[in-house]
Amino acid sequence: MSGPNTQYDPVEVAALDPAQIDAAVQSAIEGIAAADSLEALKIARTEHQGDKSPLALANREIGALPPTAKAEAGKRVGQARGRVAQELKARQQVLEAERDERILADERVDMTLVPDRRPLGRRHPVELMGQQMADVMVGMGWEIAEGPEVEAEWFTFDALNFDQDHPARQMQDTFYVEPPDAGLVLRTHTSPVQARAMLERGVPLYIAVPGRVFRTDELDATHMPAFHQLEGLAVDEGLTMAHLKGTLDRLAAELFGPDITTRLRPSYFPFTEPSAEMDLRCFVCHGNDPDCRTCGGTGWIEWGGCGMVNENVLRACGVDPARYSGFAFGMGIDRALMFRTGVADMREMIEGDVRFNSQFGMEI
Ligand SMILES: [Zn+2]
Repeated sequence: MSGPNTQYDPVEVAALDPAQIDAAVQSAIEGIAAADSLEALKIARTEHQGDKSPLALANREIGALPPTAKAEAGKRVGQARGRVAQELKARQQVLEAERDERILADERVDMTLVPDRRPLGRRHPVELMGQQMADVMVGMGWEIAEGPEVEAEWFTFDALNFDQDHPARQMQDTFYVEPPDAGLVLRTHTSPVQARAMLERGVPLYIAVPGRVFRTDELDATHMPAFHQLEGLAVDEGLTMAHLKGTLDRLAAELFGPDITTRLRPSYFPFTEPSAEMDLRCFVCHGNDPDCRTCGGTGWIEWGGCGMVNENVLRACGVDPARYSGFAFGMGIDRALMFRTGVADMREMIEGDVRFNSQFGMEI
């Protein structure tokens, strides 16, 4: 059994040999530099800085040194451990930066990448306007009816009390379908659905008919050879002009706001008696600008025609005018869209340019 290390034999404290400490530091530097990931660095840290690392062992040996040697050995080991700690910290920073860069690269969003999604389609604003108008009528308990765009001349004119020589039948107003003796036209108004509905559904009757109509008008900013109307027909006992005005005022208020002002202006149509045009207060000048281009300075804008159903029409459709009365109207859908959106040129509505539609957003 050996006695206490009274001679302070340097062999017994070999771990404190400067060459060994330098070797341990060198080995640590190489091991740390070789760590190519944070996981590998963790292993290197245990190996070169952990409790069982050569430098930790050397540190523990210091206690066995004579007091005179402690200071120098402590300084040497401390510097060596400090150096290893620095290397670890520097390598840690490098590896963390590499990891962060890799994550950024992996999760990068390429803002210039062309999306493979197709643009969402949008329903045509005229179609939407017609449906909104029809919705107002449905809200009042009316039904929606439809009819063909290629229509029998009888439904278009005869049933609606047009004389044989009425100017609307002339070639300059009506598109006739070949052959000429087929008796078919492109309907000039949605009113033929009135006759169809009375014959098919009977009375009492409350129907709204959104649809496209055709006239031989030249295409310009305010006229189109194809445009859209919302037809309305009510046939019941005791209906009067008051019901007509109340219905149209409600429709106008729903579409243009409660402050809209309307007026009925006497007019003439073969299928209504009495007949009227419904005008709206000019939404641009409100009647205060004699030079207003929208209303021509009149303060009013024509919206559509209306009136009490002519007794001849009721009779042609098998309805007894002694018992029933009715009112009818045909309001412009394209015009309503113009009033609501300020679209100044009606041609944009039928040219099919998606850039026009897309301004109106997605509405279902
Ligand atoms: Zn005006």
